[in-house]
Amino acid sequence: MKTLIKNGTVVNATGVAAADVLIDGETIVAVTAPGSHLLGFNLEQNVDRVIDAHGKYVIPGGIDAHTHMEMPFGGTQASDTFETGTRAAAWGGTTSIVDFVVQYAGENVLDQYAKWHEKAAGNCAIDYGFHQILSDVQDSSLTAMDELVREGVSSFKLFMAYKGVFLSDDGQIVKAMQRSAENGSMMMMHAENGSVIDLLVQQSIARGDTAPYFHGITRPWQAEAEATHRAIMLADLTGAPLYIVHVSAKQAVEHIAAARDRGKNVFGETCPQYLYLSLEEQLGAPGFEGAKWVCSTPLRARAEGHQDHMWQSLRTNDLQMVSTDHCPFCMKGQKELGIGDFSKIPNGIGSVEHRMDLLYQGVVDGQISLSRWVEVCSTTPARMFGMYGKKGVIQPGADADVVIYDPNGHTSISVDTHHMNMDYSAWEGFEIDGHVDTVLSRGRVIIDDNQYHGSKGDGEFIKRGLSQYLI
Ligand SMILES: [Zn+2]
Repeated sequence: MKTLIKNGTVVNATGVAAADVLIDGETIVAVTAPGSHLLGFNLEQNVDRVIDAHGKYVIPGGIDAHTHMEMPFGGTQASDTFETGTRAAAWGGTTSIVDFVVQYAGENVLDQYAKWHEKAAGNCAIDYGFHQILSDVQDSSLTAMDELVREGVSSFKLFMAYKGVFLSDDGQIVKAMQRSAENGSMMMMHAENGSVIDLLVQQSIARGDTAPYFHGITRPWQAEAEATHRAIMLADLTGAPLYIVHVSAKQAVEHIAAARDRGKNVFGETCPQYLYLSLEEQLGAPGFEGAKWVCSTPLRARAEGHQDHMWQSLRTNDLQMVSTDHCPFCMKGQKELGIGDFSKIPNGIGSVEHRMDLLYQGVVDGQISLSRWVEVCSTTPARMFGMYGKKGVIQPGADADVVIYDPNGHTSISVDTHHMNMDYSAWEGFEIDGHVDTVLSRGRVIIDDNQYHGSKGDGEFIKRGLSQYLI
């Protein structure tokens, strides 16, 4: 099957150019000057399918490197399965995810890894890779890290918060980082000071401050900035590369930027919720409404300027990419577990479907350039996590993961029209000046004309290499 995408504007992280894209089977084989000719050969007459992308952007499919499909948490589990979550991602122009294998304290890493393969295999609409969460760092976890790197799982996530669930102490963190420095893998960190947060939560509940708003108050920016700095120092001590997940506080960014200025392999992602949403407007909504936006790290105060700082950090490359931390829970039966006690609200927001649109709106609003949009949503995730060349770029030899994006289209976000398995939208009422028209996953058209043409199991496991982003 040969496909020609003609008359479009190809946007890569390196630049923007009018070009035609020729796909053979699952692979991009040529990016040519417009006019559908290659060495005098008329391409259009020799392909099975022609897609006219006139007036539209042709971009590498989005890569969401931080999702939690069907993740068990707080006695329930994230409401999107690998099937529903990856299909929703496809609707929004994301053609690869990297999800997290969960290992809780006491569990065996490789057993959990095998379980996650069972959950995902045959169910995904798009390609998927895994990071491995390490909750306690047993000796067997260290040998598992080496084995997983060989399996194509080249990144490991640790937590400095959630005592008794995920938390690793500083000694355990150093032990894992030492191994990462040896085997070349990436250390990912949930950087919040857990014991300080646990104390503030207890005090807040005891005072009767139990509404969702206090989720934000009890996870102050100091807890994020302190843990970010500590993680950077521990990485510095061991030589491990470090990637801070879901950065929301501007003071945390300042630590990341300072480490980068010293030439360190320290990186950070932020998420759409930290660019657009706030403590005052969303978490502070009346009654129990704020539960919709309970996630960790929390939404920050707009009055303190965090949101503006996140956009600025994307422009200056103090932060390198945007993932969603997609971890959806319904209000009914899930978020409701925390009525009367915010600490029992499952933590998470669902955004996997909307990341490309929400960041494109940043282009329209003048926050980032067109190429930077592609870079933070696709190219850098591919380079950061060892997929670049196959993913993250429109060039010959790359997988034909291609999105045709219409800058003259429009998208209204609502629970009534989204495809995620959620009974509300954290983005209700957001209007986007653009639209995902057509999505190809390894050469197959899976979204076109507002219809889904794929089927579950189309997505394959991505065996990742080591990060291609290190200094
Ligand atoms: Zn997460």
